[in-house]
Amino acid sequence: MHIAIVGAGISGLAAARVLSGRGLRVTVFDRAPDVGGVWSTTRHYPGLRTQNSRRTYRFSDFPMPPHHQD
Ligand SMILES: Cc1cc2nc3c(=O)[nH]c(=O)nc-3n(C[C@H](O)[C@H](O)[C@H](O)COP(=O)(O)OP(=O)(O)OC[C@H]3O[C@@H](n4cnc5c(N)ncnc54)[C@H](O)[C@@H]3O)c2cc1C
Repeated sequence: MHIAIVGAGISGLAAARVLSGRGLRVTVFDRAPDVGGVWSTTRHYPGLRTQNSRRTYRFSDFPMPPHHQD
């Protein structure tokens, strides 16, 4: 099965991670030129930061890089 996911925000990326981890073939499409949805570098407001700490806004198996501040 080849699955198409429309949207490369955190929802689409998490779905792609789970489905590909189960051996399914996944392609993610987005109209934006990069991934991240509202948090992509081409879309977010300059200087915008999350209200979460980097420990709570991450994938469980893919932590935020150390240079990201709380
Ligand atoms: C200003 C702001 C601050 C926020 N702060 C926080 C915070 O501090 N902590 C927190 O937990 N949450 C926060 N949120 C909420 C969080 O960012 C969202 O809940 C989350 O990003 C939603 O992810 P998503 O993948 O569902 O949607 P999105 O990030 O919106 O991604 C959807 C993607 O789908 C693409 N897309 C849509 N339609 C199509 C189409 N027809 N064809 C191709 N591509 C398409 C879009 O281009 C986009 O990239 C904030 C949101 C905003 C706007």
